[in-house]
Amino acid sequence: MSEPAPRSDLGTSVLIYDTTLRDGTQREGISLSSGDKLRIARRLDELGVAFIEGGFPGSNPKDAEFFARAGDLEWQSATLCAFGPTRRAGLAPEDDPSLRGLIEAGTPVCTVFGKSWTLHAEILRVSLDENLRLIEDSVAFLRAAGRRVFYDAEHFFDGHRADPAYALETVRAAARGGAEAIVLCDTNGGSMPWQAAEATAEVVAALPGVVVGIHTHDDAGCAVASALAAVRAGARQVQGTINGYGERCGNADLCAVIPGLELKMGMSCLPAGRLPRLGELSRVVAEIANLAPDDHQPYVGKSAFAHKGGVHVSAMRRNPDSYQHVAPEVVGNTSRVVVSELSGRANLLSKAEELGVAAADGAEVRALRLIKEGEARGLSYEAAEASVALLLRRQAGDYRPPFRLIEYRVMTGQHERLGAWAEATIKIEVAGEVIHAVAEGNGPVHALDGALRKALAPAYPAVARIRLADYRVRILDSQSATAATTRVLIDSADGARRWSTVGAGTDILAASWAALADSFEFGLGPARGDPAAAGSRGAGEPAGGEPADEPARDREMPGGTDEAGELETIDASQRRSASR
Ligand SMILES: [Zn+2]
Repeated sequence: MSEPAPRSDLGTSVLIYDTTLRDGTQREGISLSSGDKLRIARRLDELGVAFIEGGFPGSNPKDAEFFARAGDLEWQSATLCAFGPTRRAGLAPEDDPSLRGLIEAGTPVCTVFGKSWTLHAEILRVSLDENLRLIEDSVAFLRAAGRRVFYDAEHFFDGHRADPAYALETVRAAARGGAEAIVLCDTNGGSMPWQAAEATAEVVAALPGVVVGIHTHDDAGCAVASALAAVRAGARQVQGTINGYGERCGNADLCAVIPGLELKMGMSCLPAGRLPRLGELSRVVAEIANLAPDDHQPYVGKSAFAHKGGVHVSAMRRNPDSYQHVAPEVVGNTSRVVVSELSGRANLLSKAEELGVAAADGAEVRALRLIKEGEARGLSYEAAEASVALLLRRQAGDYRPPFRLIEYRVMTGQHERLGAWAEATIKIEVAGEVIHAVAEGNGPVHALDGALRKALAPAYPAVARIRLADYRVRILDSQSATAATTRVLIDSADGARRWSTVGAGTDILAASWAALADSFEFGLGPARGDPAAAGSRGAGEPAGGEPADEPARDREMPGGTDEAGELETIDASQRRSASR
C-alpha cells in the first residue's frame, strides 16, 4: 500500500478537541465531580485548545450540572461541546431523549456519534439504510436547532476494513445532514498508523469542504502515532485527552500529540507561546484526577529529560542536544540529572547546579562517596533529590542545620476499646537551645511527626506549611523476613514546592525518622540558590518567633508545581492516603 502524500494544501492549522472530561473519565479509577471538571476545563481553556467536550448530558446528573455551570462562564479560546448518540430507530428526532439532552446542554457544538461498521448495525438490529437515515436526520435536527455539529464516526477504521463503501456512505450521510466536521474514530484502538492515514486520506478526498477529524485509542500502542499520521493525510481536528486518560489503554495523549504537531510537523494547534504550559497542565490534571503522574510520559514526564548514565551526563554538560530530542523548556519541562551509585562527578556537579547548591571544593567527591555508601545500605537517591541537596549542603564548612536530634522515644500500644495508639517524645537542639516535645498519633511515625512539628514551631512558624504528601515503604531483601532492610520515601510540600527524601535501615521507625528529618531540614532550609535567604532564614538561623518569609515561588524540585493555591483546595480526603 502506498502512503498518502502529506496534505499541505489544507493549511497548517489543527483544531484540538479535548475529551478528557468525557472519554478520559472512562478510565478505570477516575471519577471527577462537576467542580473538578470545571477546574480542568478552565486550565484547558488557558492552554488554548479549540474545543472542550464536557460530557454526555443524557448519561448522568454530574454532566448536566457541569453544562449548567459552564454555560455561565466566559471562555477565552475554547468552545464547549456536548456528546451523545444519534437518535434511536423508530423515534422522531424531536422525541429522542438523547438528542433533546444535547440541545438542553446549551453548548454551541453538539458532537453526535453513530455507527460506521456493518457489524454494529447488525448488533443493534438496524438495517444499513435505516442507519444512514438515523445519522443524517440526527445531524440535520441539531443543525436546525442552531447548533454546530461534529459527527463522530464510531469504529470507522474497523468498518472501513470490513466494508469500505458502506463506511464511506455513513460519513456522507453525516455531511448531507450538515455536519461541520466528520471525526474518524478508532474506537477499538487496533488500527495501525498507516491504516489510519490511508482511510483518512480517502475521506478527505471524498468530502471536500468538510473538516475531517481523528479520534484514536491506544490499545495497540499507536494512538498518538495514528493521530499524527491522520493529520499528515489531511485530518485537521484531533481528539484526545490530557495524559492519555481513557477507557482500557487510554486515548491519544494530547501531551504528546500537541508537541508532535507543533514541534515535529510544523502545524499550529495552540495560540503562540502556550506550549510551555503543557507540563504544568499535565501535572494539574493528574492531581485533580487523583492519579500519580507518569514519570516516563513523553515530553511532560518528570523523567522525560532525566539523565542518569555518567557518560550521558558528561556529554550533556558539553552539549545539551547530545541526549535530548527537543529542549525541555519548550514543553514546560526541565532537564534533570539523576544521582545514584552509577553516577560520576559530572552527575553531582550538574545536580548541584540544578538545585542551586554551591558545591564547595571537592564537595561533589565527598557527597558521591556518601551516596555510594548509602545506596549500599539500602538508600536510593534517585527519587530523593532533597536528600541529595542536603548531602551537598552539609559538605560546606559553614552549613548549620536548622535543628539537631538529641533523642526520640516512641511508645506504641493497643487498647481494647480505643485500638492502636502511639506517643512520641522528642528532644532536639535549635540554635543552642534544647527543646522537648511530646505528641500522640495514630501510629508511631505520625506521633513522631507531630512531636517534631511541636518542637520546631516556636522557632520556625513555617513548619505549619509543610505537609507530608506521601509516605512509601519498600522492603528490600524480603527473604530476610523481619530482619529485612526497609526503605522509606517521603514526599513533602509547602504550597510552593514539592520535595522527596529517603531513609533506610532494618528498623522501620529509624528509616522513617531519617526521611522525616531530611524533609523538615530541607523544607526549613534556604530557598534555591538564594544566598540572602540562607543568611536570613534557614541554615540554622531560626526566625525568632516571627513569621518566616513567604517561601520562594520558584520550583525548587523538578516535577514540583507552582499550582499551590489550586492544589491546596483539593479535599485532603481525596488524596492518596499515606498510611502512616
Ligand atoms: Zn473514544
